Amino acid sequence: MTADSHGRAIRHVRISLTDRCQLRCRYCLPEEGVRLLDHADILRYEEIVAFLEVAVSLGISSARLTGGEPLLRRGAVSLVRDLARIPGLDDLSLTTNGLLLPDLAGPLRDAGLRRVNVGLSSLDPEAYREITRGGDLSVALRGLESAVETGFRPVKANVVLLRGVNEDPAPFLDLTRRLPVEVRFIEHMPVGPVPSERYRVPISEHRTRLDALGPFEPAERSRGVGPAEEAFRVPGAPGSFAVIPAASREICGRCNRLRLTSDGHIRPCLFSTREIDLKPALRPRPDARRLAELLREAIAVKPEGMPDPAAARGRGMSQIGG
Ligand code: SAM
Repeated sequence: MTADSHGRAIRHVRISLTDRCQLRCRYCLPEEGVRLLDHADILRYEEIVAFLEVAVSLGISSARLTGGEPLLRRGAVSLVRDLARIPGLDDLSLTTNGLLLPDLAGPLRDAGLRRVNVGLSSLDPEAYREITRGGDLSVALRGLESAVETGFRPVKANVVLLRGVNEDPAPFLDLTRRLPVEVRFIEHMPVGPVPSERYRVPISEHRTRLDALGPFEPAERSRGVGPAEEAFRVPGAPGSFAVIPAASREICGRCNRLRLTSDGHIRPCLFSTREIDLKPALRPRPDARRLAELLREAIAVKPEGMPDPAAARGRGMSQIGG
């Protein structure tokens, strides 16, 4: 197990497959003017596999594929198959907007994926269309349902709390009454090129709103190696919910993750702009020894607490891998 300089065992990596997305969520991306990476700069699949093999040899046991929209990348299913076979990788999951899941849930599960998180910023079709700049909620919901029907467990719905968009938790609690889905109310994070603080809902405010809809009972915590959160359920509901204080310093002490951007940079902390370029160890062909050296360096420089979030303005979630 490789620990960072603050004694935290680093077990989890988020791998961004692409910086492209078919949505333009207002809190994540500007409508226009996003400079996309050149195709040649995006890691090839054999480079991602080589990276993860080395990461696992250093103690990483869990990986999540993300983006941009990871399912937009051609051949994502065959990449999942190759990654799922890596000995020592105990957990492979995916974060998606769900729009391509109606077609891909079955093939992804056959390829070895076991867990998915689907972004659902609203359960109101109009509000969803507005915040995603054109997304069709019915397709995202079909994607979520396909994941449940295909047997993914857990299936989580990521709800980034947004002022004026989804402050009312009631519709999401209804979703947990209907489906065995874990709703995760996630605090908005001050990252990226869009000045999106106006959307921010303090997590305490949301907890108060939830309390008014109780009582709830404790739910078993699902598999996941990220910052642990307590889960609850509406009595008798098949689904559950949790609140994630994602932008609070209180979770830094338990942070056990690294991020790999789609152009091959390791980002040891979401809130720090410091990145380590792995390309010299991946091209012209992967060099496992050099990769391990660079990964150890990235783990060593992981900051103890949250750097000034203002410094995280720069690459956005879709570019880093949310
Ligand atoms: N396209 C996929 C999706 O929609 O889930 C994966 C990439 S997206 C960047 C990953 C997650 O990051 C989404 O759930 C999105 O809501 C979240 N996200 C984007 N910007 C965020 C922000 N500023 N704070 C918190 N979460 C954010």
